[in-house]
Amino acid sequence: AKGAGRGTHRFFDWIMSSRLQARRDMEAELRAALARDELELFYQPQVAATGGVVGFEALVRWRHPERGLVSPAEFIPVAEESGLIVPLGEWVLRTACAEAMRWPEPVRVGVNLSAAQFAGRDLHASVLAALQGSGLPAERLELEITEAVVLKDSPEVVSTLRRIRALGVRVALDDFGTGYSSIAYLRSFPLDKIKIDRSFVRDVAHSESAAAIVRAISMLGATLGLTLNAEGVETDAQLAQLRRLGCAELQGFLFSAPRPAHDVPQLLRELAVC
Ligand code: C2E
Ligand code: CA
Ligand code: CA
Ligand code: CA
Repeated sequence: AKGAGRGTHRFFDWIMSSRLQARRDMEAELRAALARDELELFYQPQVAATGGVVGFEALVRWRHPERGLVSPAEFIPVAEESGLIVPLGEWVLRTACAEAMRWPEPVRVGVNLSAAQFAGRDLHASVLAALQGSGLPAERLELEITEAVVLKDSPEVVSTLRRIRALGVRVALDDFGTGYSSIAYLRSFPLDKIKIDRSFVRDVAHSESAAAIVRAISMLGATLGLTLNAEGVETDAQLAQLRRLGCAELQGFLFSAPRPAHDVPQLLRELAVC
């Protein structure tokens, strides 16, 4: 039995080390991908409740030479662990601003930020450089931060965000309702928008409690002067309910999945500019 136990142990060691190796391989590959320009941004429209596109969220993809299109769910965690997320995030910021310059005037671009980008290099300087390098007006850039950033509750993070907002850049709180951040943060944090997480949106048309939560967030947002975005809208029933509950902005497969940059003009024709 002891021998078998040791064998099992070795087997798990082998699994663990091959997993670790797979991570290292992916990390090295991702580093090369950044240098070789294999990353690409897809864009998903954000639609006003009254109709028309107000912006597009930039979502990164990895066009892998053998594996095809790799989802960020696979490589963002590796990038986060290795610190590669900082240069990757800067590439996303620069590229999104440059691509948004080709869109009609009021249409904004939303860029996801990792918490690590607040700890790494000077984020304010990176944002300013992306705006100046592209010529994109600050008002057309919106940064999406997660509750992980809010939860740090650090004076440095708050002051960085204030300086970035002073440029005219907007700040949205992503995945709202999924983490542990208290609603008290909504008062003290420099924000323009709340993005209600997909998990509430999924149930909003048939669950009284999901609808009640969205209604409460909506009232809170209105009081605090925050725009409300609902993510992951897939059905007409969800759309109708979210409109009733006061969501100003909607995003999801119902309008469009994230599409390559060259599809943006067509999406703007189909959905019209707000
Ligand atoms: P997220 O920021 O919450 O982005 C929304 C995700 O929901 C996207 O997945 C999008 O494709 C998906 N989605 C949109 N509409 C629907 C819908 O109607 N139904 C369903 N089921 N899903 C929908 P994606 O593109 O795979 O991105 C996953 C996550 O990866 C993002 O979640 C974000 O956290 C992260 N990510 C993507 N791009 C970046 C980036 O440039 N930087 C950072 N730091 N993270 C990124
Ligand atoms: Ca997001
Ligand atoms: Ca989200
Ligand atoms: Ca997310």
